[in-house]
Amino acid sequence: MSANKTPVLQACPTSSADRVAWDLTDLYAGVDDPAINRDLETALKRAQAFEAAYRGKIEVPGGPPADTLLAAVRELEGLFEQMDKPIIYAGLVHAAKTDDPKHGALLARTREQRTVINKHLIFFDLEWVKVADADAQRLLAEASLACYRHYLEQKRAWRPHFLSEPEEKILEEKTVTGRAAFVRLFDETVATIRFPFEHKGRTELLSSSQILARLYDADRGARQAAAEGLTSGLRDNARLLTYLMNTLVLDHRSDCNLRRFDDPMGPRHLANEITASVVDALMTAAERYHGTVQRYYRLKARLLGVEQLFDYDRYAMLFPDLPSCDWPTAHGIVQESYEAFSPKAGAVIREFFHKSWIDAELRDGKRGGAFSSSTVPSVHPYILMNFTDKLRDVMTLAHELGHGLHQYLSRGVGYLQCDTPLTTAEMASVFGEMLTFQRLQQRYPEPRVRLGMLCSKIEDGFATVFRQVVLTRFEQSLHKARQEQGELTTEQINELWLAANRPMHGDVVQLTDGYGWWWSYIGHFVHVPFYCYAYAFGELLVLALVQKYKQEGPAFVPRYLELLSAGGSDAPHVLLGKLGVDVNDAGFWELGLQLLDGMVSEAEELTQSVLGERGVI
Ligand SMILES: [Zn+2]
Repeated sequence: MSANKTPVLQACPTSSADRVAWDLTDLYAGVDDPAINRDLETALKRAQAFEAAYRGKIEVPGGPPADTLLAAVRELEGLFEQMDKPIIYAGLVHAAKTDDPKHGALLARTREQRTVINKHLIFFDLEWVKVADADAQRLLAEASLACYRHYLEQKRAWRPHFLSEPEEKILEEKTVTGRAAFVRLFDETVATIRFPFEHKGRTELLSSSQILARLYDADRGARQAAAEGLTSGLRDNARLLTYLMNTLVLDHRSDCNLRRFDDPMGPRHLANEITASVVDALMTAAERYHGTVQRYYRLKARLLGVEQLFDYDRYAMLFPDLPSCDWPTAHGIVQESYEAFSPKAGAVIREFFHKSWIDAELRDGKRGGAFSSSTVPSVHPYILMNFTDKLRDVMTLAHELGHGLHQYLSRGVGYLQCDTPLTTAEMASVFGEMLTFQRLQQRYPEPRVRLGMLCSKIEDGFATVFRQVVLTRFEQSLHKARQEQGELTTEQINELWLAANRPMHGDVVQLTDGYGWWWSYIGHFVHVPFYCYAYAFGELLVLALVQKYKQEGPAFVPRYLELLSAGGSDAPHVLLGKLGVDVNDAGFWELGLQLLDGMVSEAEELTQSVLGERGVI
């Protein structure tokens, strides 16, 4: 799945991608297809039979016989696929046209049905986790179970952190009125704040996503007004937002204590299948490149023609007038870039275009953003995006097709193991984006256009690498301060936020006092503690792979495709190891950082030739 942007319903302008719509009949003939109900009914019967056959047979003294376990997991895999196919289909038709009540109804109905079916299956995981370690080890070493080893192993990874069954029940039940209630209060509070945007003598009240979008405005006055409005809205709600943050950080601490995690990042590392030392190596390596960030911001100040860059200038759009690119051209560029990398990858990408697996046209009621849905291994992935004829959309197309390629190739490892953890989920998408980016740079040789594309690529890279490391440092200091000093005031948290941000911005970007409040709308801190470093991991991993491809040439290609084909059938460090990558080695992370640094140098040179003697754009 892609990192989705905020779902916004589009108004309906036309684009050159008109009539580029997906054909979902490989899943079902239509929303009224009787096969939808048939699949749900059969899945329910299979689930009931599964429960009758295996309940009490997995958690037995000495563990279950290997062939029983194998038969159970095989059946479970087929069953999950049949149970999920209707709901996945419903999700796709709904995304393509959210305002059709039939679509919403199908989504609701298939979801409810899945809950009913799932109730018969939950026992399996619980029994498997309770099998004694020695017995589980013996089973996992069986050759016949090798194809499901990682899946079964991962299920047990949380075993040392489980509490007794009655304790788990109490925790689960109290979460609804505890943590989950606070998270919902946070979401609803931020969603309902209206931020005052005072510009050119008018005041508008904007939502958080609207006012954040104004920070990209080419007009500095608008950006400054957006920054002030954002701060003002957050300040008005600071008492509540501070209280929520204090409570959720403390809740996380007590959870860690109960579950025997010393480090508040522990649960996240376990879910990401990663160790603390890898994350340390990655973050420290990134921090050694703050100089690169500052060099770029110095350049940006020059391009904007300002003496001093402030926090509200960082996202300013540099070249609002880049050339447009129509669908046939975008299709050609993306196809060529994958083809040139590997004919095998090119052949897969061609299927997406020729067999109508992509939905790119703009349409009333279609959800915004873009994603690639893997659907189920017996079918193939589908891609949704909103193509608006911008160069940026070409990159989005390449990005989603990268996901599509990954999902397509990993179908072979089966439904239970084809998905990767978050840390490697963006591997193929960002890699594919880089391939297309390089081709676009050749296609549009005019220095000003190349510089425009390069700057936006650099800024995306900074947002995914350096900013995410800063967010993680802030979170670390927040959790530490909360534990050592008790409940924190807004001002104390503001200071932690500024302190985490200063090293990256140095004296090149001046952080205003108002910026101190900007931690308080970031949902990641609230929803999933320490979520952010995975973005940096994913991006730096890909940039390093791009460097490796440069160094190794064609020899890299088959091994890379093999890595994609393996899906999530083993831990990321094991799969990457086969590519000669050691994620524990700080030197490996340097590769990606050097690439970013090189892009900044290239932007400096291009700026020189674009600005020439004039000094401004
Ligand atoms: Zn993505």
